[in-house]
Amino acid sequence: MPAILRSVSDLSCAVAAWKAAGDSVGLVPTMGALHDGHLSLARAAKAGCDRVVVMIFVNPAQFGDGADLALYPRTEAADAALLAPLGIDAIFAPGVEAVYPPGFATRVSVTGLSDAMEGAFRPGHFEGVATVVAKLFGMAQADQAYFGEKDWQQLQVIRRMALDLNLATAVVGCPTMREADGLALSSRNARLGPKDRTIAPALHRAMQAVATARGAPEAIAQARSDILLAGFASVDYLDLRDASTLEPVHTLERPARLLAAATLGGVRLIDNIPV
Ligand code: AMP
Repeated sequence: MPAILRSVSDLSCAVAAWKAAGDSVGLVPTMGALHDGHLSLARAAKAGCDRVVVMIFVNPAQFGDGADLALYPRTEAADAALLAPLGIDAIFAPGVEAVYPPGFATRVSVTGLSDAMEGAFRPGHFEGVATVVAKLFGMAQADQAYFGEKDWQQLQVIRRMALDLNLATAVVGCPTMREADGLALSSRNARLGPKDRTIAPALHRAMQAVATARGAPEAIAQARSDILLAGFASVDYLDLRDASTLEPVHTLERPARLLAAATLGGVRLIDNIPV
């Protein structure tokens, strides 16, 4: 089993020793409840770095309401067992007070990129994410940090933050892992009932139809109605955006991304694909 580090000083000491020996260090931030999507990041980190730390921390700062935070699955022993065969070097699983000690007063806000889509539906979410990732980059001093394209807007926010703050850790994006039927892997999928689980792939299917139609507005309108017809309760957004600035795109001239959030059986699913 990989060593479990609880304190920031344990993490710093481990990383300092590795770096002194000339090893490169990769970091994989997660909130636990690990699935193959997370494991793909850990594998990419293993392939790219000599030493790998997986962080498991359910970050209270990125949850809007306490109920959602309380509901978040915490499965540390199972997570450690899933990571064991991958040969990672350590799990960093600090308590909330180790990350946010008394007196903690700083917030990192990435304006613009954080405003629309997830930012509009989850006020404060990206500020919580950017703050904890900036802290984590400071604590771990890793060479590379690995994030999933599954959370495309988050990936752009983190890239911008690392660039703007001259952080020394390189941000690496990794492809979205999916079920055979196209549903993007997510810890939230476990909350879908059996019937909703059969409906869920309709989101990705409808998005692919938009990509095939090169993001035409009629195709987006059609996809929205197909998602609802399939049984989703609501579509929060289904937006064609510039892949890196996330500005709305009307004509396809640069790489674009179709991003969506929709609710099914009380479970909010997000996904995105290139167009
Ligand atoms: P989370 O634990 O949900 O905060 O996710 C931790 C990291 O895993 C983030 O960088 C996510 O983008 C990434 N991730 C989540 N689901 C997937 C997936 N299906 N494929 C690839 N990466 C993922």
